[in-house]
Amino acid sequence: MSFLIDVRDLKKVFGAEGATAATVALDGVTLRIHEGEFVSIMGPSGSGKSTLLHILGFLDRQTSGTYLFEGKEINDYSDERLAHIRNSAMGFVFQSFNLLPRATVLENVRLPLYYSDTPEAQWNDLARKAIDSVGLGHRVKHLPNQLSGGEKQRVAIARALVNNPRVIFADEPTGNLDSKSGGQIMELIAHLHTRGHTIILVTHESYTARYADRIITLKDGRIESDASVSDRYAGKTLIK
Ligand code: ADP
Repeated sequence: MSFLIDVRDLKKVFGAEGATAATVALDGVTLRIHEGEFVSIMGPSGSGKSTLLHILGFLDRQTSGTYLFEGKEINDYSDERLAHIRNSAMGFVFQSFNLLPRATVLENVRLPLYYSDTPEAQWNDLARKAIDSVGLGHRVKHLPNQLSGGEKQRVAIARALVNNPRVIFADEPTGNLDSKSGGQIMELIAHLHTRGHTIILVTHESYTARYADRIITLKDGRIESDASVSDRYAGKTLIK
């Protein structure tokens, strides 16, 4: 049976390996994620969470180890081929929203469609649907600086959704928000999970991690624990 994501003995070294300045960010991560899972990646600052998310989302490459996406080994794929898969199958939400400041909400959300195979005639409709689905239909012509932090993150989620991706990667999506807006963003992400999107969330906040059905904890670039939430909160931590 194939997994959506299957990585084996992933290592990532920044700087020349063996050099004094080299940093081992991932030190042998083996991990399998099924379609439809909601996984939280936790751990202290510097434990490798963002590095792992970037590699899983094809935003960076591992130094060694194997990555199978949708059952296919992608290690030798060109950057162009990876970008094509990323644009059609993956959506991204970041802590700092990463919206284009001079582009309207509609233009920001439409952006991923430029790089997709979707005919241009459908771009506005798809973008409006994604914006409606995050409750911002009344803000399509606004610029990012006219929106609250929570609304900006909703726009980023709409942009992540516009290609109907199989997997959504969220890196500390509530990190710049107050707890009320953060809770609303987590509710929205949880709703996307119920609609069938696989969610991979990096967070250091336990209230956001609890939305997940599986929590992976990293420490010093290795998996320290990997447990389903019900097991974890029943006091059992399974290390697989
Ligand atoms: P986390 O997301 O858990 O805070 P990161 O994945 O950002 O951790 O970082 C893991 C380690 O890799 C840290 O020691 C960090 O300093 C280092 N690191 C991350 N990105 C780079 C980079 N581009 N160049 C050099 N070192 C990096």
